[in-house]
Amino acid sequence: MSSSMTAPSPNGVRQPGQTESADRTLDPQPILELRGLRAGYGAIEVLHGIDLTVLAGGIFAVLGPNGAGKSTLLKVIAGLHPASSGTITMAGREVNRARPDDLARSGLCLIPEGRGVFPNLTVEENLRLITHLGARASEIEERTYAQFPQLADRRKQLAGTMSGGEQQMLALARCVATDPGLLLIDELSMGLAPRIVETLYELVAEIARSGVTVIAVEQFARTILGIASSAVVITTGRVVMAGRPDQVESELSGLYLGNVAD
Ligand code: ATP
Repeated sequence: MSSSMTAPSPNGVRQPGQTESADRTLDPQPILELRGLRAGYGAIEVLHGIDLTVLAGGIFAVLGPNGAGKSTLLKVIAGLHPASSGTITMAGREVNRARPDDLARSGLCLIPEGRGVFPNLTVEENLRLITHLGARASEIEERTYAQFPQLADRRKQLAGTMSGGEQQMLALARCVATDPGLLLIDELSMGLAPRIVETLYELVAEIARSGVTVIAVEQFARTILGIASSAVVITTGRVVMAGRPDQVESELSGLYLGNVAD
């Protein structure tokens, strides 16, 4: 759960516990707390009072069927969609009205549903866009290609012409390049073969081991439950179960029909 990442902004989500004592790092602190979170579209409420606590470190799986509100939840956390009420606290800082770019600078990165890359730009250009957060392009590329060697072979290729799995790998790499403390991933598995999904989640597990807290939304649960440290199930905008991955897995088919296969 601890890590070796760079210094956080004072109120940021990077490296909670980085300067704390060893005792403190053994006792993970909340990196994200949601209380009574409500949100919707126009008059239609989609999230009906979500309460969640995500501890720093590890992988937190958010499961649930189509239309449950999982993507909306991530958008609200990332500042891309307003909450109508409730509170969002990140690493002790209330961020209800924080702008997405402010949240990004303090260490949050979202991989949205679909592919979080610019299809008409090359791999290299996709990575260079991260420089607006301060790092040098050469540094970003060097680190990225060391961690994701497959992308080095593709550096001049347009992202949109790569396989779905490679595009998701690039989306992960772009987030990692921002040195995040909190990584939000929306359905990494979408449209991909189970073997590719497993490879991608192995990368996600590695990213989490490096000290990044990951919140991963998935409809198809088995792979993510294999690497998650805790999980919640959301149906129709409400948390209906929270617990250890093995507990959640055993209840899953009763909570929403059948979607536990990869
Ligand atoms: P999926 O896996 O299908 O994306 P989800 O659990 O992520 O499902 P959301 O995408 O958050 O669910 O959608 C929750 C509800 O909000 C659905 O009924 C959806 O139709 C509705 N919704 C989502 N986006 C919008 C929007 N931009 N305008 C109006 N309604 C929306």
